[in-house]
Amino acid sequence: MSYRIYADIIIDISHENLDKTYQYAIPEELSLSALIGSLVVVPFGLGNRLINGYIVGLSNEPKISIDKIKPINSIVEGAPLIESHLIYLAYWIKESFGGTMNDALRTVMPVRKAVKAKEQKTIVPIKSNEDLSLIYEEQNRKNNVARVRLLKSLIGKGNLDYDEAVKGLKISRPTIKWMIDNKIIKIERKHLYRNPINKQDRELTRLKLNYEQQTIVNSITRDYNDGKRNTCLIHGITGSGKTEVYMEIISEVISKGKQAIVLIPEIALTYQTVNRFYERFGDRISILNSRMSDGERYDQSLRAKKGEIDIMIGPRSALFTPFKNLGLIIIDEEHESTYKSETTPKYHSVEVAIKRAELTGAFVVLGSATPSLESYQKALTGEYKLYTLTKRAKEANPPKIWVVDLREELKEKNRSIFSRKLKCLMEDKLSRKEQIMIFINRRGFSGFVSCRSCGHVMKCSHCDISLTYHANGKLVCHYCGYNVKMPKLCPTCGSRYIAAFGTGTQKVEEMVRREFPHARVLRMDTDTTKNKGGHQKIIEAFADHKADILVGTQMIVKGHDFPLVSLVGIIAADLSLYAGDFRASERTFQLLSQAAGRAGRDAIPGEVVIQTYHPNHYSIIAAAKGSYKEFYEQEILYRRLMQYPPVAHILLVLITSKEEDKAERAISHMGEALREYLKTKDLSSHLIGPAPAGLAMAKDLYRRLIYIKDEDYNVLIELKNYLEGYFNFSSQFAGTSIQFDFNPMTAY
Ligand code: ADP
Ligand code: ZN
Ligand code: ZN
Repeated sequence: MSYRIYADIIIDISHENLDKTYQYAIPEELSLSALIGSLVVVPFGLGNRLINGYIVGLSNEPKISIDKIKPINSIVEGAPLIESHLIYLAYWIKESFGGTMNDALRTVMPVRKAVKAKEQKTIVPIKSNEDLSLIYEEQNRKNNVARVRLLKSLIGKGNLDYDEAVKGLKISRPTIKWMIDNKIIKIERKHLYRNPINKQDRELTRLKLNYEQQTIVNSITRDYNDGKRNTCLIHGITGSGKTEVYMEIISEVISKGKQAIVLIPEIALTYQTVNRFYERFGDRISILNSRMSDGERYDQSLRAKKGEIDIMIGPRSALFTPFKNLGLIIIDEEHESTYKSETTPKYHSVEVAIKRAELTGAFVVLGSATPSLESYQKALTGEYKLYTLTKRAKEANPPKIWVVDLREELKEKNRSIFSRKLKCLMEDKLSRKEQIMIFINRRGFSGFVSCRSCGHVMKCSHCDISLTYHANGKLVCHYCGYNVKMPKLCPTCGSRYIAAFGTGTQKVEEMVRREFPHARVLRMDTDTTKNKGGHQKIIEAFADHKADILVGTQMIVKGHDFPLVSLVGIIAADLSLYAGDFRASERTFQLLSQAAGRAGRDAIPGEVVIQTYHPNHYSIIAAAKGSYKEFYEQEILYRRLMQYPPVAHILLVLITSKEEDKAERAISHMGEALREYLKTKDLSSHLIGPAPAGLAMAKDLYRRLIYIKDEDYNVLIELKNYLEGYFNFSSQFAGTSIQFDFNPMTAY
């Protein structure tokens, strides 16, 4: 690499405006130690006052005239600073996932606005009760009613909350000032953090781990104490007690004076989950979630920095908690797509966690009942250490799973959304006063077209991805742009029952009410959970048995324990099977496994009905058997055949513009430039597209894309860097913007 002589420096990282960098020259003697993230001392302003700054970029190009560039004074050596390492992490994120340094800095330091911390003020008398009584009588005689009110209250209670005095007793500030001036009272101030966890009684119940759990804990802690820092994957069926294992490992790590970050998907961040941690660790934990204000987030991050907490629980943003001595990062439900950022930089939390752990000497534990193909493959090749939990922790048996072939239902003239099996079981459970969950698999639903007689699905012959129905009567491939006219008859069996597939939660709720008029029904989807706490309210009502049937989307299948649920009905397992992206089967398997995991969590044995047009699809067979292994082995064959991740890697290049022709022209320039580059560098990466995105227009922007496949991730990074540079320096892209996504989690 060439020798970099200029550094971009940010002076104040607590400032909102992170774009503001100043360029300094790197003196030769500092050239080896001036790195991204280094804390440096620089002369600033007219007086050349010496102040601290961080290096966020290095270059060979002066941005202003050379004689105006001042040299860095010195580098601050010594104690590793949390900011330095987060800045370095930001740099790594930018390099690995695209976007600007500024985007990356905002990701790792989301809390920039210093919000005035709340204070608790208390009025404390500094005179004895007798003295207070004398003053009271004197003021009473003089008819100073406000002073009298306050004194009376102080004699009775001792200390008094300041706000309570001002508001409750209607005491004015001059009255309080007079009392302070006359040395009758003082004000005590306590910094009050906006702790999002409400205090409550803790019962220190520590479950005795079972043999499988204990074996994992022993092995992980032994490795940790031996200085090994390998990433672990805990593959444990739902209810096998992964959370207990996490808590035990955390305990070990914090007993060594280190801190831990626990990532859980936002949707699973329920009071129930947080409370389990709270019961174990008390207020040494804190949480982050997307509903918190900037001020609340700032406080929590400040507490972490000051060492007031040891454990941060939250969705992916918690990954950047500024702990000084990070020892452990746990990622629960590691397969969840929410761990991928949907805005630039589109980083994946697992990769960033492993990088942060590497920088700080911490280690990463991933957990899932249905690991991502990526992680499981790494576990099989030994890159991760694999642990398994095969039994439910509470003595409950796995549910009995029925797969119903909907084509047979149609043959028997049953056009209802409930198969005969499901209907019969629902009646049975209702008569026993047990609870039922009806799950509509709408995840990634994109309007694929299938035949209700034979189950045939219209697919792209190039990508093996299901085609999506568009209002103009065409079927389109979201990857390569291939399109055909919507057929009138099924190309396989000639049936006219070929149509775009779709069932809404609302419609299902209506049907449930019609078929079971005496049942109490609740519905949970994005509509019914819009209001703050809506989600929680529905869950609580169902948990309190205020309803017999809960109808919902994937929201209802995550992490909740309802002991009375003995039946889970999956209305249309196929909806996610044809979501128009290469992860569709994987997601289907995950959702079916999770949904099945909701039934029979406790004493009552559970049953599950999976309704499908594809009873022979491997993700449905494997889910019905509860066999992750079987699913993995089939799915990895498909990925290998089609060169999809994790076998090869995909880089998505997305161009957007307000004007369609600009987007169109920009993407075809990109395509040409790419082909040219691949040829001159003799690279064999595979290009797919250019094509309109599946969502060809969103938020008034036209979207065009190219997919690039390569087995070598580094080649894709090289291509990203090349395209980013080309995009920034060529005028052909005016009026457009560019985004990159490595191994995308969703269809575009
Ligand atoms: P997972 O996270 O793997 O789905 P959980 O940790 O939520 O599983 O455990 C499922 C249930 O089993 C919880 O109610 C938990 O309290 C209970 N549990 C976990 N470990 C044990 C144990 N060793 N003994 C008894 N109950 C346990
Ligand atoms: Zn057909
Ligand atoms: Zn295609």
